[in-house]
Amino acid sequence: MEIQMPVVIVGAGPAGLATSACLNKLSIQNIVLERDDCHSSLWRKRTYDRLKLHLGKGFCNLPHMPFSSDLPVFIPRVDFLRYLDDYVSTFKIFIRYNRYVHEASFDVKTGKWRVCVMDSALNVGEVYVADYLVVASGESCDAYIPKITGLDKFEGEFFHCTKYQNGRPFYDKNVLVVGSGNSGMEIGYDLSTWGANTSMVIRSPVHFLIKEMVYIGMSLLKYVSVENVDKLMLVMSKLLYGDLSKYGLIRPKEGPFALKLKGGRTPTVDVGTIKHIKEGKIKVHSEISSIKNGKTIEFVDGKTGQFDVIIFATGYRTNVHKWLKDYKDLFNENGMPKPAYPNHWKGENGIYCVGFSKRGLQGINYDAQKVARDISVTINARKKILTADEANDAQIKLLD
Ligand SMILES: Cc1cc2nc3c(=O)[nH]c(=O)nc-3n(C[C@H](O)[C@H](O)[C@H](O)COP(=O)(O)OP(=O)(O)OC[C@H]3O[C@@H](n4cnc5c(N)ncnc54)[C@H](O)[C@@H]3O)c2cc1C
Repeated sequence: MEIQMPVVIVGAGPAGLATSACLNKLSIQNIVLERDDCHSSLWRKRTYDRLKLHLGKGFCNLPHMPFSSDLPVFIPRVDFLRYLDDYVSTFKIFIRYNRYVHEASFDVKTGKWRVCVMDSALNVGEVYVADYLVVASGESCDAYIPKITGLDKFEGEFFHCTKYQNGRPFYDKNVLVVGSGNSGMEIGYDLSTWGANTSMVIRSPVHFLIKEMVYIGMSLLKYVSVENVDKLMLVMSKLLYGDLSKYGLIRPKEGPFALKLKGGRTPTVDVGTIKHIKEGKIKVHSEISSIKNGKTIEFVDGKTGQFDVIIFATGYRTNVHKWLKDYKDLFNENGMPKPAYPNHWKGENGIYCVGFSKRGLQGINYDAQKVARDISVTINARKKILTADEANDAQIKLLD
């Protein structure tokens, strides 16, 4: 079965929804294909209970719909989900669920994209044929666990943080959280408040800032240079935390926002983890060197520990290169765009990507509007060419 559609969008996370809404506003027909049985599945199924948006609400809304003024500055996960549900109904977004896109390629003969899909509910294949393909399958769509010697023989439990909900099941257990990004640090804090004997692996230098500092920094960036914002952040951070190196926490040489804008490591939002580290409620370890017999873990500094559970907050990978056959024009081997920001969103032959600039929801807002406008411009340009051709044909017929 072949289904013709002007625009096919792969992925019904915030990026896919934002793109569809922008296209609908411009009356451009589109469809969103989602492998899961719901939209925004990362937020609905793969995030922990206590999560709130790390950035203030002024930096996180999708296009054409600001957050309600009743909501707090840092929006809880459930309220964000409600916002996304409202977004889907407000903009009448057309989503087909349980559609796993396993292959998409550009057909040179027809000049169209062929998108091959498996309907996992009915176990049948479908083919969508489109003029434009929007990749919105997410920077964070596949959980990543690094290879560690002996992990396959670990006698405790281990899983990626996408499976963590709260610390209730871990009371009095020895739990090791690997990773010092936002998820790792918040899960470490959560575990410690639920009574788990919590340890963390923090191997790379990282900036810790509280939410309010990030909010001030992001707001100031509109008026003040990144160097000066970073200087202010470092002074505030030193006043708040003092010297953290004695706890095994090292600050990077470059400032927090300079690093973020380069698309590098974003500052980690501290929700109380540092206080628990200072109080000895959370222990900090260096990198894991290997997992020994049973439940013993050895670290690169030679220390060892016994753990019941390991939670990997070690990030995500995109899956673009697994299903997009002609990806090399727009994406590199890691499934991230080749062109640097702000030109990352457009490739050749009507392919686009939304949500791949490492700039969170603010980046998605920017990309979605750019992509929708560009598609609208090219559709109108094509129409003009067609009308001009038709006028020429008519003139030729008259002359005949
Ligand atoms: C824990 C966490 C907290 C975050 N907090 C913030 C924050 O506070 N502020 C902020 O700005 N950003 C935040 N981010 C970053 C970013 O905004 C979110 O990751 C956001 O969900 C990205 O939206 P997306 O649509 O690009 O990707 P996703 O939400 O990952 O959506 C992609 C969708 O594509 C689907 N999909 C993937 N492959 C296929 C396929 N082959 N076929 C069909 N469907 C497919 C997936 O099932 C998924 O539904 C956070 C990220 C995480 C992980």
